[in-house]
Amino acid sequence: MTEGTTAPDLGTGRCQCGDITYEVQGVPDDPHLCSCEHCTLLSGSPAMAWVGFRRETLTWTGRRGEPTWYATWPTLRRGFCPRCGTHLVSVADGSNMVMVTTFSLTEQNRGLEPVGHSFRQHAVPWMAVTLAPDPLHS
Ligand SMILES: [Zn+2]
Ligand SMILES: [Zn+2]
Repeated sequence: MTEGTTAPDLGTGRCQCGDITYEVQGVPDDPHLCSCEHCTLLSGSPAMAWVGFRRETLTWTGRRGEPTWYATWPTLRRGFCPRCGTHLVSVADGSNMVMVTTFSLTEQNRGLEPVGHSFRQHAVPWMAVTLAPDPLHS
């Protein structure tokens, strides 16, 4: 990777156990935190960090192939490693984007700073006061 590159054109990511790995390409879109009911419960944390890539660039490269899919809405599926439980991606029906969990990306892509915070009104107060609302999702 070129020194000083801020918009990597190839991202790789993996689950914690390494059974599931993936690649995405292109400029990362809309890095944001989400404190919706599903993200907080699934992660056990006050927010999840997401970043989007074009869906057709996503390739599952690990020996296990695709993750296990779980629909949290009728129109939205989330992908997890069936072995270690790492939350990897989220795909909405009809969207040409795939959202990946920012911290499943390998180290060089984790520096993406969130541009906003979806469902900020549901976040614990100490988060809500430190981040701006997400202009696209709130
Ligand atoms: Zn795993
Ligand atoms: Zn969410």
